[in-house]
Amino acid sequence: MRFEAEVIAAYGRHLRVRDATGGEHDARPFGRRVQAVCGDRVACEHDAAHAEVHVTEVLQRSNVLERATTRGGAEAVVANLSQIVVVIAPAPVPDLFVADRYVAAAASLGIEALIALNKIDLLDSEARSVADAMLVPYRKAGYRCVTCSATRPESLTALRAALAAHVSVMVGQSGVGKSSLIGALVPNLDIATGALDRDAEGRHTTTSACRYDLPGGGAIIDSPGVRDFAPAIDTLEPSSLGFLEVDRLSTQCRFADCQHLREPGCAVRSAAEDGTLDARRYESYRRLRRLFEDLREKRGPGHRSDAARRPVR
Ligand code: GDP
Ligand code: ZN
Repeated sequence: MRFEAEVIAAYGRHLRVRDATGGEHDARPFGRRVQAVCGDRVACEHDAAHAEVHVTEVLQRSNVLERATTRGGAEAVVANLSQIVVVIAPAPVPDLFVADRYVAAAASLGIEALIALNKIDLLDSEARSVADAMLVPYRKAGYRCVTCSATRPESLTALRAALAAHVSVMVGQSGVGKSSLIGALVPNLDIATGALDRDAEGRHTTTSACRYDLPGGGAIIDSPGVRDFAPAIDTLEPSSLGFLEVDRLSTQCRFADCQHLREPGCAVRSAAEDGTLDARRYESYRRLRRLFEDLREKRGPGHRSDAARRPVR
């Protein structure tokens, strides 16, 4: 019997799927060709003889978040998202270049990005203004930002509201509080934070990606595969690389194919020079542009077409 379902957990090729009636089944992909990830909608066959569910086909994805592999390729990690939530915190010290790459990936996929500054309970008023200042360039560029503390339930209202009705994935450096936040947002959830599911070096040892329904509607996908990942560089929109403010400014560049580096008449560079574009964000754009061009060069012409990529909103 054929039925359609959604992958709500993936541990390598062990899948858990939920059918239209809410029934959950352990399932496995039928054949090597079927590569399902958490969030995928799939076609299944119930193999009554063996009391097994086979996933026979991955249905069309609205989008897929891919991580960069060490060889410069891309590997699918989660599918059918509507939002990427980038968690940063006062400690560990934020690597904003990484945060920029996540929000760039979101814009390039045509989905929402949200920046959540966690652990605000650790900040006195002076440190708080430093942290708020860090968010200013993002807010100005058009990214939504919220502040929160996983240890203070009353601080989670804005985050909850931003997650409602979305299928989000939480990403960010190890230790910023992603598991703690998910634990605070999802009732009756048994994800261990801290020592329980970590090895001696503090790395997560749980390797399954899971989707959790949120009480206010929407869902959050926790995927160890994307927790500290670098989004695949070739998922980025080729003209602005997914930087919202670069995208807006680029309409005033002299050349339509401007890369916003040294070209004459570049509106992006002149905005960075006169301070209308945040200097750190521009530097981040330049670093990503170099990586992007390096990768393209390595691959040579004829690799998968950039034209197929969706433009930034
Ligand atoms: P993850 O690696 O991003 O999943 O981070 P964890 O959720 O495991 O949190 C890392 C550490 O930060 C743990 O010791 C948590 O107890 C602590 N932590 C997480 N969120 C907060 C917070 O909002 N405030 C404070 N003070 N500590 C937090
Ligand atoms: Zn330009």
